[in-house]
Amino acid sequence: MVCAAAVFLGKLIGWLALAVLPMLLFAATATATATAAGQVQPEPTIEAASLPLVKLPETIKQPLALDRFTISYWVDSSGQASFAEAREQSYNNSPNRVSLGTSAKSTWVRFQVVNPASAERDVFLQFPHAYHNKSLGFYETDGKRLLRKAVIDLNAPEDNPYLYKGAGVFSFQLAPGEQKTLYVHSVSYSHQWFELQLLDAFHSKQALVSSYTDSALMVGILIALVIYNLLLYFFASKRENIFYSLYLVSAVIWIALSYGLLSGVFEVYGDTALQFHTSLMAFPIFLILFMTEIFKTKLHHPIEHKFLQAMLALLVVAFVWSLFDIQAALQPASSLAALMMVVTLSVGISLWLKGEVLARYFLIGHGFFVFFNALAVLYYKGMLGFHYVTSHGVGIGIMLEALMLAFIIAYRMKLLEDMKAVQEELKLQAATDPLTRLYNRRFFYAEADYLLQRAQSEHYPVSILTLDIDRFKQVNDTFGHAIGDRILQELADILKGSVRESDIVARFGGEEFVILLNKCDFRAASKLAEQIRVAVTKHAIELSASETMSFTISIGLTEVLLGKEQIDDAIHRADLALYSAKKAGRNRVEARA
Ligand code: GH3
Ligand code: MG
Ligand code: MG
Repeated sequence: MVCAAAVFLGKLIGWLALAVLPMLLFAATATATATAAGQVQPEPTIEAASLPLVKLPETIKQPLALDRFTISYWVDSSGQASFAEAREQSYNNSPNRVSLGTSAKSTWVRFQVVNPASAERDVFLQFPHAYHNKSLGFYETDGKRLLRKAVIDLNAPEDNPYLYKGAGVFSFQLAPGEQKTLYVHSVSYSHQWFELQLLDAFHSKQALVSSYTDSALMVGILIALVIYNLLLYFFASKRENIFYSLYLVSAVIWIALSYGLLSGVFEVYGDTALQFHTSLMAFPIFLILFMTEIFKTKLHHPIEHKFLQAMLALLVVAFVWSLFDIQAALQPASSLAALMMVVTLSVGISLWLKGEVLARYFLIGHGFFVFFNALAVLYYKGMLGFHYVTSHGVGIGIMLEALMLAFIIAYRMKLLEDMKAVQEELKLQAATDPLTRLYNRRFFYAEADYLLQRAQSEHYPVSILTLDIDRFKQVNDTFGHAIGDRILQELADILKGSVRESDIVARFGGEEFVILLNKCDFRAASKLAEQIRVAVTKHAIELSASETMSFTISIGLTEVLLGKEQIDDAIHRADLALYSAKKAGRNRVEARA
């Protein structure tokens, strides 16, 4: 046990190194690229000419839909700076979509806009991801004086004209040739990431209407999977379906929250929305429970089970913590997520190396999950730039994993079905004789007791036939054992073809057979026995293309005295009748009442 644990630990550390190294390399490269791109430069302390200038289209007829331009930002680490103080700071240039990590909770953005057209322009400055902020402020200046300001407190969002379905929208006018400086003050709860757009009225409306279609699609697909799995649970009572459903439900809540659907559709913002981040701690809990259930780790893989249990304990602590203080619990969340990914991935790899069939599919799904989530973690930490894939990494990872887990559930059902079929086959093999496929003596006795009881209580007769091939030793000696076997098989077919489904034909051993006839009295049994005897005499066994042979049987029969005797007594009486048939010259039916 200790030795196995040591080997596993060794393997785990190896795999950890393999799993973590590429992530670290990736992070390092990403950071290096961001710095090399020259985005980080100090700027003069006042609103000088070097401040980023966004030039609007030359004429008013041209559409305005700018989603790529340069801004500058300053991180207020005290979180206390007023607008007057903020405008005196030195700003860094950056693209208009940026992720600054956890140390930039209070960030000021500024840039200039100029209208070169000969007519006045209405401009909409849009901040699409306002829903995850604590507050958001827009400040409009002419370069010297503050002209207007709008502040959105996400904890009191009611009737704020600058907040629309989770997006901050600030409109202003630019006269022909006019230039203005805009400030945006973004205060986030934990991770600072945002995007700014400059749009005309038409594009502003369009962006606001279509902003949640992708997340709605993700949520829709996941909810369909939840319903399907609940139905599966209803019919199959497999715990993995419940864990999978709960995993999906918490994932759905988190996706709806993180990508704005919750606030956009249900107008949930600020501290209330923040509490929903509890789902972030919940979905890995259900993923681990799903793993323990699907791989039966407690039973088959005790060491891996302990690792999963330890991770589960940590996550449960984080979950309970998040119920009481979500903001504090969120601080270590991305580190906990990284640890969870490493543990689940390592366990998956270990199970795969041990030959678990489902582990391969789990690893594919979980590989997607880990890859896209690693992108997201690096993005939230400010190490990777704004991109759909990085900013939606968690959602994409969950979607791909969810589909793979659905496949695993289906595949496991197939494995269980296959196992059931094997068990059925084994049961049949235990009850039948391999040569003739007739039931064996053991099965006959197991069934006969029950059948006699039923016959007695329902008042119908039961008869017994015992059969023996005539001079079979001689047949074997003359034609060979192989022909003897064929005779046994063909006789079995004749017997099965002569009785009903409810009767039992059994090979008791050698060339002796017993038939139990349900709802069949002495007279009917005699008639049937005679029919069988005649059928056997007429049956030709093909020895070669031109040669055939035939054989005969003797039959003893009796009707069971229901309630007065055991099955063995009736068989013994039928055997005595059979013995008489043999003595009387064979190829005959003899009966005993
Ligand atoms: P009787 O008419 O008195 O029944 O004569 P018999 O030769 O059939 O005598 P008995 O019933 O004692 O013969 C049993 C023979 O059945 C012995 C053995 O050679 C043959 N036998 C038993 N089981 C098998 C089998 O599985 N395959 C073959 N080919 N022969 C078998
Ligand atoms: Mg015999
Ligand atoms: Mg015989």
